[in-house]
Amino acid sequence: MYEQDFDILREQVHGHRLVYLDNAATTQKPKVVLDAMTEAYTTWNANIHRGVHHLSQVATQHHEQARQRVADFIGAKSSKEIVFTKGTTDSINMLAFSLGEAMVKEGDEIVVSYMEHHSNIVPWQMLCDRKKAVLKVIPLREDLTLDMEAYKALLTDKTRLVSVAHVSNVLGVINPVKEMIALAHARGILVAVDAAQSVPHLRVDVQDLDCDFLSFSAHKIYGPTGLGVLYGKEEWLDQLPPAEGGGEMIEHVSFDKTTYNTLPYKFEAGTPDFIGSFGLQKALDYVEMAGRDKIEKYEAELTVYLENQLASIPNVIIYAAGQRKAGVVSFNVEHLHPFDVGTLLDQQGVAVRTGHHCAEPLIDKLQVPGTLRASVAMYNTKEDIDALVAALKKAIMMLS
Ligand code: PMP
Repeated sequence: MYEQDFDILREQVHGHRLVYLDNAATTQKPKVVLDAMTEAYTTWNANIHRGVHHLSQVATQHHEQARQRVADFIGAKSSKEIVFTKGTTDSINMLAFSLGEAMVKEGDEIVVSYMEHHSNIVPWQMLCDRKKAVLKVIPLREDLTLDMEAYKALLTDKTRLVSVAHVSNVLGVINPVKEMIALAHARGILVAVDAAQSVPHLRVDVQDLDCDFLSFSAHKIYGPTGLGVLYGKEEWLDQLPPAEGGGEMIEHVSFDKTTYNTLPYKFEAGTPDFIGSFGLQKALDYVEMAGRDKIEKYEAELTVYLENQLASIPNVIIYAAGQRKAGVVSFNVEHLHPFDVGTLLDQQGVAVRTGHHCAEPLIDKLQVPGTLRASVAMYNTKEDIDALVAALKKAIMMLS
């Protein structure tokens, strides 16, 4: 639908048209984003929040407009609740450190799920090690959805925080985060949502979800790499200490006592990625112009088509088959190694992900060496999926 805006999609790979189906790892960038970032570097690049000079003021204005754009995009009450980070991983690490310092003590419990990305497991493990807290894990049911009865039973007086993926980057399943948040809140427990795979595909509204924290990465929603967002309700961000010290995050510094800046700057030490935030702003404008509901519907249909087409091939195993998914389908071919299949797909110009997808506990549970993962974006078409299916059939023939 929008292929013409993405020059890279006209590239050839191994003599074939590139069929890019690795969007869950990162998306391609539309020309408007690339042009905007070049324009920023060529016409108004200057460090923000620091200068009285014209360019610095222009750059500051763009950065703060980008923050407001993000706040509007995810339905935050105020741009003060939007902290720019390096990405989802950085957001979760920052939160784990700050929240850990302020709110977690020995014996407390943090709850994550079995289908988390490593970046929503390891920072909490590190926090638990530091504070002698305990990490609890929501198990999965046979159909690879979260076991909600087990989840309810895991919420206790010791639980400080639940941190859960909105959409699994391996299975594509959409977790019932709104219900999970309500259940946690009923017991006074905070909830952080890893929205790295949901914000690009679904209309995510933080006030509707009522989540306390939410993270996502710009590069997965047509924006630049190296930039992410940590949303936090103002009342919690106010109470948390900064995770990093340096310029920007301070009010006054002396050797006797340093005081911190107001929100959100307290959490943004050092020069922020103000060119990247301009790129993200343009990416969000692009998505909004295309129509978020239209994209969501289109991608949902494409994902169903993807799953059905793959399932029609003999010996293809789909994970979480039949579950509603957001853009991502994981699969394997019986008796074939995913790396071998992925390599043969690549030779035919088809880019999919192979491996554990940074979710080793889940992959171990599936008892496979890894999976193949195809993931769509707004610029993919049914022809792309047909190309994947044709290439997959050929790969299977060659390997069998
Ligand atoms: N969580 C999920 C669900 C993800 O899919 C990813 C990216 N694969 C991350 C976290 C980490 O994102 P980033 O590498 O951009 O920090």
